[in-house]
Amino acid sequence: MPDYRKLGPDELRLGATSGTCFTSVTFDVWRYLPWLYSQVLTRGGRVVRAQVQHINQVLEGAFCEKPDALVICAGIGARTLGGVEDEDVFPIRGQTVLIHAPWIKECMGSKHLPGVSSYIIPRPCGDVILGGTWLYGDWYPKPREETHDQILEGAIQLCPELAPPEVLASGRTPTADDLKPLIVEAGCGLRPGRKGGVRLARDVVEVPNAEGKKVPIVYNYG
Ligand SMILES: Cc1cc2nc3c(=O)[nH]c(=O)nc-3n(C[C@H](O)[C@H](O)[C@H](O)COP(=O)(O)OP(=O)(O)OC[C@H]3O[C@@H](n4cnc5c(N)ncnc54)[C@H](O)[C@@H]3O)c2cc1C
Repeated sequence: MPDYRKLGPDELRLGATSGTCFTSVTFDVWRYLPWLYSQVLTRGGRVVRAQVQHINQVLEGAFCEKPDALVICAGIGARTLGGVEDEDVFPIRGQTVLIHAPWIKECMGSKHLPGVSSYIIPRPCGDVILGGTWLYGDWYPKPREETHDQILEGAIQLCPELAPPEVLASGRTPTADDLKPLIVEAGCGLRPGRKGGVRLARDVVEVPNAEGKKVPIVYNYG
């Protein structure tokens, strides 16, 4: 981590007792994933989209030709995908708020409550992700209003500079309400958690109706 150093007492925020700063890399997933996707296609890769109920459907060639190997990256889906059905997989629910604040150029984060912390991640396009939550075993798939307000409150306390420049210039203390006109969208997702950590393992699996033929299988999820 270049420029890594401990924060001085006058740099600490939100009553923190210690802190660090460093230079690192972040990237826009919504730009990066399409680029990766194009790399697969230009190297002769092919993408077939399908809802898989059981890995045998893939092994038997239900969606394309029979595979020589199978790599399972099903995330939270590994809990229910037939042939995997890993009960150790569970959701770690995360909620975020996306705002447009192109004047913010630095990430910031603070952990102050169990399951809730404030983080601020600017994107090159001027949008800034505000988070967030880490709620273990919480399956609720939509943003919750009370969490939304908590995220805005935590973000403005951690980083008053998020408020529009005219608010800062006015000299009054910025509040969560100053962020509301900047909101682009509320977000929510289920991170794939797993008791015992990531399952990264290799095995072989029998192809159904193929006279005992076996192919390698790699598990990579959680
Ligand atoms: C709010 C939030 C903020 C986050 N912020 C960050 C961040 O800033 N930085 C960071 O590094 N990470 C972040 N993460 C975590 C990151 O999103 C996950 O760690 C990552 O997406 C896990 O990747 P994965 O490929 O293992 O699983 P996933 O991204 O969940 O992909 C699994 C895929 O498998 C598919 N699938 C599952 N079951 C089936 C089936 N039966 N048939 C067909 N397809 C199936 C799913 O549709 C999905 O496309 C965040 C997560 C959340 C929720």
